[in-house]
Amino acid sequence: MTKTEMVGKAQTVLGPIDADSLGVTLIHEHLLLDTTFLFVEPTEANEKVLAHQPVCLENLNWVLHHLFSNLDNLRLDDEQMAINNLLLFKQAGGNTIVEPSIRGLSGNPLGLVRISQATGVNVIMATGYYISMTYPPKLAAMPEEEVADELVQDITAGIDGTRVRAGFLKGAYGGAGPFSTGIEDSDRKVMRALALAQRRTGAAIGIHTLRKDLVAEIIEILGEAGADLNRTILIHADRWGPDPLIFPKLLQAGCYVEFDGFGTAELGLVPAEGFDYQLNDAQRCDLILRLITQGYLKRILVSQDVFFKKSLQSCGGAGYAHILLNAVPLMRHKGITEEQIHTILVENPKRILAFAPVKG
Ligand SMILES: [Zn+2]
Repeated sequence: MTKTEMVGKAQTVLGPIDADSLGVTLIHEHLLLDTTFLFVEPTEANEKVLAHQPVCLENLNWVLHHLFSNLDNLRLDDEQMAINNLLLFKQAGGNTIVEPSIRGLSGNPLGLVRISQATGVNVIMATGYYISMTYPPKLAAMPEEEVADELVQDITAGIDGTRVRAGFLKGAYGGAGPFSTGIEDSDRKVMRALALAQRRTGAAIGIHTLRKDLVAEIIEILGEAGADLNRTILIHADRWGPDPLIFPKLLQAGCYVEFDGFGTAELGLVPAEGFDYQLNDAQRCDLILRLITQGYLKRILVSQDVFFKKSLQSCGGAGYAHILLNAVPLMRHKGITEEQIHTILVENPKRILAFAPVKG
């Protein structure tokens, strides 16, 4: 399909579809990944045993408080398990998810094709680079144009030599979990490459940051590199703490904000894991309602960011269907209207996932 024909369409792992047919869409859910590079070996003998057990009900509470110290928790590598869990999202009325397992997270494009075929759920895969500790050594020598070429190739031809094309661009800065960092020169280069790739393809960009002190600089770098900030999502916005000033500033730049921690209140109990802050679902809904009142309804996205195995329903977690089953009733209870919920779950994802005309 040419770039002109892609305008108004979203690109799933099974091919382009009309953005109007995306339906209820969650913008950030991992199905297959491997983050064992984040593993932190416990020092106590009894915890060393727990570190190597599969996630189960007996160890779930320990895992919740030691997210990076259980190897099984850091792997989503079972396609049948992904299918079974994603079917619960479909049964709850879900239609589409964006799968942001980019380079460094061991994303599996062919696995996503099989999962989408088995469930009938549209899956849109992202391309880009995860935090700097996962950058391949060759990246240091690549000029930003070459990095952008690779990303464009993933969108126009296929990811990693497959014919499965990406439909979204993603970068990640400021570290993850216990591995908190600042923005390095290599990160700036990748960000500029994302902006270039966006100009050449019309795809939207999502930027992961767990640190609110980095967000303004990220917006500046992207803006200077020619990114369309109206087609840029700030991921993990519910990890930035209760700063009432940060949101208006970011929203005035045109960015979308993504509240993707629905169902993961326990992280708020473990700041030592590297998360600044974590709202609970009621606080998330209050914040969303406040932003709606301020006129930002069309810039709000929600998700659960299933990333750890403990988050799957089959392992005792909130799962892919949590927003539809539990958060939507809470939104209604808080006074968010049906029309506003529809905008957040259907219209906003559709607007951002539809490819825009290219800018050269
Ligand atoms: Zn994620």
